[in-house]
Amino acid sequence: MIEGSKTDAMTRKLRMGMVGGGPGAFIGEVHRKAARLDGQVEIVGGAFDIDPVKSHEMGKMLNLDPARVHDNYEKMIEAELKLPKDERIDFVSVTTPNNWHFPIAKAFLEAGFNVICEKPMTMNVEEALALQKVVKSSGKVFALLHNYTGYPMVKHARWMVKQGLLGKVQKIVVEYPQDWLLKRIELEGQMQASWRTDPKQAGAGGCLGDIGTHAENLAHYITGLYIDELCADLTSFVEGRVLDDDVNVLLRYENGAKGVLHSSQISTGQENNLNIRVWGTEGAIQWFQENPNYLYFYRQGEPVQILRRGNDYLCDAAKRHTRIPPGHPEAFLEAFANVYQNAVATMRARLLGKKATELELDFPNVDDGVVGMQFIETVVASSRSDAKWEKFHK
Ligand code: NAD
Repeated sequence: MIEGSKTDAMTRKLRMGMVGGGPGAFIGEVHRKAARLDGQVEIVGGAFDIDPVKSHEMGKMLNLDPARVHDNYEKMIEAELKLPKDERIDFVSVTTPNNWHFPIAKAFLEAGFNVICEKPMTMNVEEALALQKVVKSSGKVFALLHNYTGYPMVKHARWMVKQGLLGKVQKIVVEYPQDWLLKRIELEGQMQASWRTDPKQAGAGGCLGDIGTHAENLAHYITGLYIDELCADLTSFVEGRVLDDDVNVLLRYENGAKGVLHSSQISTGQENNLNIRVWGTEGAIQWFQENPNYLYFYRQGEPVQILRRGNDYLCDAAKRHTRIPPGHPEAFLEAFANVYQNAVATMRARLLGKKATELELDFPNVDDGVVGMQFIETVVASSRSDAKWEKFHK
């Protein structure tokens, strides 16, 4: 346990370090904003960039004590361990490209720090299982940034399924189309595209690992169902690209439900159109990430119900994860902050020697990360096999 008095642990901000998120990076800045939204966290240090000069540049931009800004994550761990226990970071956020998640998360856990990590969790299943072991043996908190689970209306959708309001789930259609990789912008030095299209940095999945795993995780989070079998077709439409930029998967779930998962980065006109439809024997729901304050509920033969964020009729989890009255939109940053809110509350509970509540434990964890990596590997294997294809009967 990180030391300090209990009164202190009750009132102070938790100290956050970051690896990744240097100048010009995308998601690191989102983490920094989301982490601080509820006033429970302060950023005290980091190793922000693969380039040490840029790491220190970022430290200056964030007005951090230069002594807490490091050339790389190894030096950061070394320096943190030299500090008195009540000055050290409580947790680190890992916001680097995928190939760094495993070594960095493992090293911080083994040094006794809690970890908040970006997805996909690792480069392959082997690393994911190894990380799962480290998390369990360390006893530390590990949160995985499947941020779409943080939306209040997604939490309400999950509650509706659990309450049986949909009856038995029979069909799930989940989609995540984007268009930003329609051209080969990785050759023009576009920072986010260059590593995402390189298997050495992204892993076995391109679009699959980047956003297909969000779709897989969202369907699981809402329905609680696990995939039993799948049949997949991956394509790299853009000439010369090694990893997939388009994903189509048929799913069979353990309870007999069927699913269709589609994600794409070459779908012109689509920005971040993550959406999900779940059909049960008694009702159905539909949610769109680009209009996230609304959840549609259908019962056969009845008018559609549009459930809206911020209202008293929603479940406790939806109400807990909302900050402003209905009609004022909340979205991406707030949902991101909700994952932080629960992971941080769980860390604080541990500092106080208390058990975290069920609501506090509602964040994606290392087990979700293992399933995500298994999903990537199974989809890639299925796509390479011709076992399920039938030539069209002419
Ligand atoms: P990015 O290219 O914009 O930024 C990556 C940053 O990491 C850069 O500053 C780079 O210098 C730094 N970096 C690389 N290796 C490092 C190392 N060894 N030590 C320290 N810093 C290092 O990438 P991004 O778009 O921000 O994506 C980063 C991660 O976040 C990826 O794993 C991605 O899949 C994930 N991501 C998640 C979401 C989400 O919605 N949850 C959205 C975007 C990205």
